[in-house]
Amino acid sequence: MDKSEEIIKILKSKLSKKSWEMWFGTFSVKGISETLITFSVGNIFIKDWLNQKYHKQFKETIREVFGKDIPYTIEDEIASEEIKKRKVERLIRKRPVVYSEFNKEYTFENFVVGPFNEEAYDGALEVAKAPGKMNPFFVYGGVGLGKTHLLHAMGNYLIQNSPDVRVMYVTAEKFMNDLIMAIRNNSTQEFRKNFREKIDVLMIDDIQFLMGKNGIQSELFHTLNHLLDHSKQIVLCSDRTPTQLSEFQPRLVSRFQMGLVVKVYEPDVETSMQIARAFAQKNGILLSNEMAREIALSSNNVRTIKGIVTKLAFKSAKDGVSEDTVANAVRDVVGRVATVKSPSSEKEAFFQVLSGVFDVLPAELDAKIRTANLSRARQVGMYFARKYLHKTFSEIGEWFSRDHSSVVYSCKKVEESLRKGNSKVREKVFLLQKLLHKQSGESAG
Ligand code: ADP
Ligand code: MG
Repeated sequence: MDKSEEIIKILKSKLSKKSWEMWFGTFSVKGISETLITFSVGNIFIKDWLNQKYHKQFKETIREVFGKDIPYTIEDEIASEEIKKRKVERLIRKRPVVYSEFNKEYTFENFVVGPFNEEAYDGALEVAKAPGKMNPFFVYGGVGLGKTHLLHAMGNYLIQNSPDVRVMYVTAEKFMNDLIMAIRNNSTQEFRKNFREKIDVLMIDDIQFLMGKNGIQSELFHTLNHLLDHSKQIVLCSDRTPTQLSEFQPRLVSRFQMGLVVKVYEPDVETSMQIARAFAQKNGILLSNEMAREIALSSNNVRTIKGIVTKLAFKSAKDGVSEDTVANAVRDVVGRVATVKSPSSEKEAFFQVLSGVFDVLPAELDAKIRTANLSRARQVGMYFARKYLHKTFSEIGEWFSRDHSSVVYSCKKVEESLRKGNSKVREKVFLLQKLLHKQSGESAG
């Protein structure tokens, strides 16, 4: 063993594994002479730290190896840029920095997947497996439908599977507060470093919070541009589509649309039942079909369903689950008696899904308002009701408050578009099929 190796071996034995890994990733013995030992490290920051903290260990090591005291110096310059780069990189890798705490419960494994959210789930998993490829990744949908859960799942997945990747999760509100604080403290340089240089994946939750906040949006724009230029992954969450973000700079909206945009829908009754059962199972209780249905019918918000089941688990810990405890839990959480909301009318259920698919309000569907998107939603809706729900023309007319001839006309129009291969219309019909569990040829149940 030569003297350099010996120094390293002894030094290492004097330090904890953690300190060694944290601070000595770039450490090497650069020169040995009778009068001076020269060490080298990756940067000046490490150099200062080692000088401050490990003087005693260096001194002792030198005495042990050479049998006498020889002064030492630590340099932070490294022969070639290439080596420097490699070594700094290595140091970063050995020092996984946790930028954000992720909720350990919010994992992909704990995420119930159904037709309503599978697109978002698949996208999130793809992005977590190969960050930087689908950029930006934009998830939107109503509250309580699992968007934040998905972001945390991505974070947890990345930390587990690619510890080298530096992930930062912030809410848009925190982004704003940090920026304001930085401006106030004259430390915008540092803010920019944090959000641009130091990370590989940036996730910003509830981006709609920045609507109308023009100055913050400008900073965000430059942040995103910088990250995109360096192939860093951006993940964004919103309660609405990019184009529905009013008072947002057009240049930002167009960035949002550049990559993969996915929507989380509201779950249909069957999926809600499945979610209720999954939560129940996690809580160690078993739900009958009827119970699960009752819960599912009381809300199509995943957060609410989860709340009901948690309450149920708590209340039934002593006496077990019964129809009564289910009804009570539903009442406590939703604020009304479970059975009041009957399997709603078929129209109501259909309108809810249809409105989700076209991003319009259910109440607009049978109103007199006319926009291109609404007309399309109505036409496709009428066609779907005829073809897959097997409604008569007059039933459909009643649903949409339209006369017989306009229903017939709409159905024809959509059929024609499909025949001509209009992919947009196809996609909508397909989505409705999926969300309503209707395959072609299946009879209306
Ligand atoms: P959002 O961010 O869309 O408002 P959250 O991600 O906060 O919704 O979800 C609300 C609650 O519902 C969380 O406790 C989350 O774990 C749970 N949740 C939502 N969707 C799912 C799902 N598909 N599977 C399991 N839990 C879910
Ligand atoms: Mg959220």
